[in-house]
Amino acid sequence: MQHIQSFLTFHRSASSPFVLETQPPYSLSLSLSVAVLLLMLQPQGLNKAFKKREQPFNPAPMAGLNFEATYTDNHDILKIFTDEGVEFLLSSEEKVPVSDCDGKIIGLFFSANWCRPCRAFTPHLVELYEALRKRGENLEIIFISFDRDDDGFKEHFKRMPWLAVPFDVNLHRKFIDRYRVDRIPSFIPLCSDAITVEEDLIGCIEDYGADAFPFTRKRHEELKAIDQRKREEANMEELLGNEGRNFLISVDDRKVPIAELTGKTVGLYFGAYWSPPCCAFTLQLANAYNNLKAAKGDCFEIVLISTDRDLMEFNVNRSSMSWLAVPFEDRTRHDLRRIFGIKGIPALVFIGPDGKVISVNGKFMVSSYGAEAFPFTESRIRDLEAALRKEGEALPPEVVDVKHEHVLKLDMAKAYVCDSCKQQGKFWTFSCDVCDYDLHPSCLEKVNEKLIDNSYT
Ligand SMILES: [Zn+2]
Ligand SMILES: [Zn+2]
Repeated sequence: MQHIQSFLTFHRSASSPFVLETQPPYSLSLSLSVAVLLLMLQPQGLNKAFKKREQPFNPAPMAGLNFEATYTDNHDILKIFTDEGVEFLLSSEEKVPVSDCDGKIIGLFFSANWCRPCRAFTPHLVELYEALRKRGENLEIIFISFDRDDDGFKEHFKRMPWLAVPFDVNLHRKFIDRYRVDRIPSFIPLCSDAITVEEDLIGCIEDYGADAFPFTRKRHEELKAIDQRKREEANMEELLGNEGRNFLISVDDRKVPIAELTGKTVGLYFGAYWSPPCCAFTLQLANAYNNLKAAKGDCFEIVLISTDRDLMEFNVNRSSMSWLAVPFEDRTRHDLRRIFGIKGIPALVFIGPDGKVISVNGKFMVSSYGAEAFPFTESRIRDLEAALRKEGEALPPEVVDVKHEHVLKLDMAKAYVCDSCKQQGKFWTFSCDVCDYDLHPSCLEKVNEKLIDNSYT
């Protein structure tokens, strides 16, 4: 019996930052806390390389530091720079006087090239930075490196369009204390009511990009409320389009107005070409789609929300699909994944003719029942399951097949190949516990009938 594993899980790129235990909270001596931080920041197996670092941090007593202080503007960071004699920061091209940051909204980015979650998160921050700068926001980001050496620092910084504290300036102790940096990556905007790293600002930026600005809790609540409204109201044009686009694309690159989906049952298919389970499911979905189009006409549609890695892959992926797709170069794909809480692919969300979500279990419905599952409601699935139960009740619990030496037991399988007719089967099977033999209930009858015929001749 073949069991099909068909669920891949997304991993939020920065969901596992390197975390410093903060218990007991900041009661360790500073030297210890810095040492612990640096140890905790090491991925396993890299401690040895780290020990080669030539410039160890210079710990000092922590007495007198006020950990309850809140820093809601950039005076404090500028003061740290002044106190430590840091006169300039680095950009990709030149040295920038620290005074250039005066009056700007500053975000501190604590990161290291050796840290995989840091490398994964950095492109999200770059996208946000460039979008906000383009929008004219007065934002500056300052990278504070936790790299081990200058090469690591340079490698990491060359991917960043913002400023950096020069690598040889060792202010880590000050930053760790003042801004309570307990993990990397950490992004700390210097504004009041900012979402903290503990509250997952990193995740919020990955989820919402530039919309997360100005990184406050209030903004985060607003964004979550917008998602909820979109999910509940499911106005197709708002859900699948954006300000600049009110169409989807067909396999032959026609622009199909989203308005044409109004009043239809619509399946949002989250999938990618790189995923074998998606490719397998695409075939099942295509089968159901073609059957439904033939049987029900135009009351049904599928829209691909691709998670392909690039445009070429996306085009290959949809070339095998006769339904519509959200264009690749579009953040809506990412937004839809977030709005419907999609954690793995393939996934299929059904939206009914009234615009309400019918089911987020569309993948199960289609892979189990194909076109039979239409209109993809829970009650339809209950009916199908009841019919299946009834079918099972009419079959004997055990049988003996003349072609097989062992007793066969009635069993339920999602997918199997019948050892008599070599065709695929699903649900009820007569199955052998000893040798993995499967038989369609219908094939068992045929064999018996043949046998009976033979015995009479
Ligand atoms: Zn068979
Ligand atoms: Zn057997």
